[in-house]
Amino acid sequence: MGKVAINIVTGSLQPQETIVGIDLGTTNSLIAIVRSDTHEPIALKDVDGLALVPSIVHFDAYGNITIGNPAKELLIAEPERTIYSVKRLMGKSYKDVSKDSGFFAYHIFDDDTDALVKIKVGDRFNSPIVLSSFILKELKKRAEHILKTPITKAVITVPAYFNDSQRQATRDAGRLAGLDVLRIINEPTAASLAYGIGTKHKEEKTIAVYDLGGGTFDISILTINNGIFEVLSTNGDTYLGGDDIDNLLVKHWQTQTGITDDELKTYKSLAQQFRMKAEEAKIHLSANDIFNGEIDGQTVSINKHQFNEIIKPLVDRTITSCGNALKDAGIKAAQIDAVVMVGGSTRVPFVKESVAKFFGRELYDKLNPDEVVALGAAVQADILAGNNTEMLLLDVTPLSLGIETMGGLMDVLIPRNSKIPNKAGRQYTTQKDGQSGMRISVFQGERDLVADNRKLAEFNLTGIPGMPAGLPKVEVTFLIDADGILKVSATELRSGVAQSIEVKPQYGLTDEEVENMLLDSLTHAKDDIKTRALVEAATEAQQMLDTTEKFLLKYREALTEEETIETNKCMQQLRDAMEAKDKDRIHNATEILNDVSRPYAERVMDSALKDAMRGKSVI
Ligand code: AMP
Repeated sequence: MGKVAINIVTGSLQPQETIVGIDLGTTNSLIAIVRSDTHEPIALKDVDGLALVPSIVHFDAYGNITIGNPAKELLIAEPERTIYSVKRLMGKSYKDVSKDSGFFAYHIFDDDTDALVKIKVGDRFNSPIVLSSFILKELKKRAEHILKTPITKAVITVPAYFNDSQRQATRDAGRLAGLDVLRIINEPTAASLAYGIGTKHKEEKTIAVYDLGGGTFDISILTINNGIFEVLSTNGDTYLGGDDIDNLLVKHWQTQTGITDDELKTYKSLAQQFRMKAEEAKIHLSANDIFNGEIDGQTVSINKHQFNEIIKPLVDRTITSCGNALKDAGIKAAQIDAVVMVGGSTRVPFVKESVAKFFGRELYDKLNPDEVVALGAAVQADILAGNNTEMLLLDVTPLSLGIETMGGLMDVLIPRNSKIPNKAGRQYTTQKDGQSGMRISVFQGERDLVADNRKLAEFNLTGIPGMPAGLPKVEVTFLIDADGILKVSATELRSGVAQSIEVKPQYGLTDEEVENMLLDSLTHAKDDIKTRALVEAATEAQQMLDTTEKFLLKYREALTEEETIETNKCMQQLRDAMEAKDKDRIHNATEILNDVSRPYAERVMDSALKDAMRGKSVI
């Protein structure tokens, strides 16, 4: 019998397996789940009602580690032992971060290599992965304590612009923390999911996610189509956020109180008081019109109007980024269906007003902006746990899907084990001059030759206008929707001629058949490599023959008699090699033909170029 646990937050019985959503942030991290009774996502809070765990790790002289708020308290007193913003170092080498090293008060170890960075505390070296794993462990512990059940599986979010090595580092950190990371998802995608955007079948939307946190600003433009999120563009500033708003306020009060920069540098605790009061004022002004306070016996004040004036240049910079992101995505503000607000600093009313005005839309800002990413990760986790059958269930393809290309080779567009829904595209072109049609044959399987795989469908793209070989651009797109239905479309991009077909990729295949096809691909892997090499060599040889023939027809007079004889001889040798199906001979003969024809081809091209420079027509 399987174990059951009681969820003490919701008071309900729940299956053993709770998959959590984790926002591993630069400043703060948090963990969320979907309540099994109400199906609502909630952030898990400690006894004091706090959901946010500052992403800060402190090491004492004896190697004891503290995480979160207790570590944050030591930030000023023990800067060398208190590690913050470790997310900025994930998956990076010292070279990558050296220009930003002034930002970090702790010791980033420079070993002058391309290896991943290390942080030195005392005589201990820590990788960002290990440091992040400490934060994740703390979150895991918190969730286990609250839910009274072991937590082993998680969905973790990362910024949309994270590259593979940064994503892998995050995944590894999860593994080190004892978590099976089922999926790494983009933060803007998570934020949209938290609002239920993109969770319905047949939903098509373009959204902007504006994320202004403590130290970073990101704007992402996404499209959602049938459950597939695609990032069209990202923009932002990795050093712009709420901390900069606080600094602007400090500057304002320095003028008010006459306290100089030098004084703040000398008296660290005074500087700290200024910063804390500034943050307090900023938060106060999100709900009030005026703030009055006291720092070190001096009164300080600011009203909302002054505050907005002060922060306007900073907000304007974010709006410029929004414009650039739209430009990169190739869309207009009016085409955005939803604007989702993320990050604590989006609570500032002037920020909201500016963003709403720029996009001309009402904002999605009802959820707690600090929690929205973690809540979305929890929604994704809940879908993966199979608890939410209303929503799209993301699955994987059992076998690779691709099309037949030259020489009967399988060109894989969606590899096996890719998630469903999914989308992939690739461009092809024609082989013959004036070719007006193209046959698109869709196959499923792991073998290199389509003849050994399973044909799913076939259709013709017709009506391609006459063009020389290689000029048409035929974009073939595979789209697998949430039900595993594959839709293949082909479009000739220059003319817009298009054709599409729907196939059910798994239809009729039993588990056993899938298994056999995989085994088959392993058994024949060596043969397949040989065949693929031969087919590729023959295809290249045929192209070389075609080009040479065309050239001889057009520029016969430009060649000496010896050159013509030599070329014809080499062409025959190549044809013989192809006939013999000998890959190495084909390669050699192709090279020889290439060497023989290069001098006169260059000669002809040079003189054509000179003619063109003189303003004459070349052909
Ligand atoms: P995050 O990195 O998303 O947790 O955002 C943290 C930032 O949000 C910090 O700079 C906070 O000072 C800021 N913040 C939190 N609450 C408010 C508020 N009510 N008004 C303005 N800024 C806030």
